[in-house]
Amino acid sequence: MTGAAHPIIADSELDSYIACPSCDALLRDRDVGAGDIASCPRCHSVIEAPRPLAMTRIIMLAFAALILLFGALFFPFLELEAAGMVRRATLFDTVAVYSSGLNAPLSYGMAALIIVIPLVRFASLLYVLGPMALGWYPLRFAAPVFRYAETLRPWAMVEVFLVGVAVALVKVAGLAHVSLGPAFWAFSALVVVTVFKDNFMSRVTVWKTLDTRRRS
Ligand SMILES: [Zn+2]
Repeated sequence: MTGAAHPIIADSELDSYIACPSCDALLRDRDVGAGDIASCPRCHSVIEAPRPLAMTRIIMLAFAALILLFGALFFPFLELEAAGMVRRATLFDTVAVYSSGLNAPLSYGMAALIIVIPLVRFASLLYVLGPMALGWYPLRFAAPVFRYAETLRPWAMVEVFLVGVAVALVKVAGLAHVSLGPAFWAFSALVVVTVFKDNFMSRVTVWKTLDTRRRS
């Protein structure tokens, strides 16, 4: 190809397009009223579905998730009983026990994926959406914070961890009597709450609200 490259869409027109979050199809943006649903014509995923109080719901779910995560950390996760010996362990203990020697990288990696990253995501959602739900201006750096929180999304592996625990339980059940502690249930609830929260949250709506309420 020779000659100067010409952009397919002029800069001035870029603002009137949005990309489908699932399949990257380029779509012309339009105003979506409350109660309406805008979906992608190619992959049919919902792009925008403004609901009254949606922001408040997401805030409440993120807050609930944060509390559940703390519960999951500090309450006993499992109780093992074998030959008259009872052992209780919290997730925090588990990470601490393996925090030296060859297991340390694995232990810190696990802690990052199931504790730190989810924690950062919930906290940043509260930071970004909290002021919006109240009708205030977005806080400083709300846009970059939201962008990074979204980048971290695939790395929050709470549900993967729970599947791993289930597999391990089947193995251990033959060797010792295992009972599940409150933290296990807090973790399970956390998975459900996270799914609901991610379903409620329309990224496009968040970006639009950030855009219109940006401090000038
Ligand atoms: Zn699509």
